[in-house]
Amino acid sequence: MTGTELAPDTVVVPDARLYIDGRWSSPSDRELVPVHNPATEQVIGSVIECTRADIDAAFAAARQALGPWAATTVEHRAELLDALADALHDRGEELAVLASMEIGMPLTESRAVQAAFPESVLRSIVDVARTTRWEYDDESGTTIVREPVGVVLAITPWNFPVHQIIAKLAPALATGCTVVLKPAELTPLNALFLAELCDAAGIPAGVVNVVTGRGSTTGEMLVQSEGYDLVSFTGSLTVGKHIGQVAGGRVIRATLELGGKSPAVVLDDADLEIAVRTTVRNCFTNAGQKCNAPTRLIVPDGELARAREIAVAAAASYVLGDPIDPSTTMGPLASAAQRDKVLGYLDAARARGATVAGGVRADGFDAGYYVTPAIVTDVGENDPVVTDEIFGPVLVLLGHQGFDDAVRIANDTPYGLSAEVWSADPALAEALARHIAAGQVRINGVRSPQPPVAPFGGYKASGIGRELGRFGLDEYLETKAVLGLHHKS
Ligand code: NAD
Repeated sequence: MTGTELAPDTVVVPDARLYIDGRWSSPSDRELVPVHNPATEQVIGSVIECTRADIDAAFAAARQALGPWAATTVEHRAELLDALADALHDRGEELAVLASMEIGMPLTESRAVQAAFPESVLRSIVDVARTTRWEYDDESGTTIVREPVGVVLAITPWNFPVHQIIAKLAPALATGCTVVLKPAELTPLNALFLAELCDAAGIPAGVVNVVTGRGSTTGEMLVQSEGYDLVSFTGSLTVGKHIGQVAGGRVIRATLELGGKSPAVVLDDADLEIAVRTTVRNCFTNAGQKCNAPTRLIVPDGELARAREIAVAAAASYVLGDPIDPSTTMGPLASAAQRDKVLGYLDAARARGATVAGGVRADGFDAGYYVTPAIVTDVGENDPVVTDEIFGPVLVLLGHQGFDDAVRIANDTPYGLSAEVWSADPALAEALARHIAAGQVRINGVRSPQPPVAPFGGYKASGIGRELGRFGLDEYLETKAVLGLHHKS
């Protein structure tokens, strides 16, 4: 035992099965896609690569379930989602261990972001649904009716898989939509686990359907299908653009949560030590595989050397190891491809003259995709290590020459997902927050509010639409204006 409440071998890994129309099936003639533990490189399970027939069946089930589900009361749906939240609470430790085994995230982080956070997101969205005005007369006497968009295709990535699924499932179900979910092929097992919880919570057949497989095959067939009314995608910019084009061509609504290259801007009156240490911590959550990680630390020119010293010391304090071991503070990267991509960026930056502390394959591991955290300095503003989303434990330090220059550098990116600003002067911090083009800006290290209803999503190439809270719910709703319903002549 490693001090966890559950040993990994006591966690039941879901079988390779599809969940369609409330039934589990494992057709024997399907290709299986293996799922690896990135810490051991061992296969821990597998999932089914779907065929066209599976996809058609999933959309047919979701379409058939839509009418009856949309006709239920909000309170009925909210009660079922309460039951799902209770199940998430009760089974959270299993889910966290399973997610750590799939992604390599340290269990301490998994407990927070794969179990506790999704539960609180789900509960917060249920609260929002309960207090939403679903129908009302506006000041002109028009009756405004909010209706579910319809069948939702939800496609999710691997880095925070449980959270990303719940952030779509919760508003979709609360509004009366039905869902076909395809999780990432690197981390599909927690989605099957969640489907078991939905089933046990009494969510009716066909309301939630889970299909599995690779993005280029199953994902592409899903996107090309005509079975959905809204696609909600979280993932890379490349795939997001493609899905947006397909949806746009059909005038179907698409919510796209894409990448980021988020800045942390430190003004010269801020506490540099706290700002740098906090930025390192926020950048290296999940080994830096986080869309809103602050990956560009922008400090006053004159403080670059000291900031580097603090950052290098903070990075060197990480304990790399088995994600299940409670002393581990950084696990492996999620796949060999991800490790090689990260190392490739760092090698190329070194070849162009950058100084990189860390950023190499970690010693002492027989297996696993471990990379030591990297602090990059002496690099041009246009270097790919500065401009591209790397999705690994890589923090780049840049110098600024004051407020305006800091704003310029912070906004000099195609992305706009999130930002962090640091100043001892509340007015300056606020001005900085207002000048940065990003969907979320955190002042002096403030983390998620409780409950987690702050809208999340991107400006610019970071996406279209918002998740969480009331804005997240709105994405799944149509608005109907009925004129003359309460007309008094
Ligand atoms: P990805 O785009 O490769 O895959 C995401 C999902 O899309 C997976 O389920 C994949 O199977 C599927 N997919 C791939 N090709 C497809 C296709 N042609 N048609 C349909 N589906 C397809 O992204 P990833 O590598 O899994 O995740 C990392 C990316 O996600 C990063 O860029 C990161 O910034 C982004 N991300 C964004 C947010 C956000 O909220 N903005 C959150 C997490 C991750």
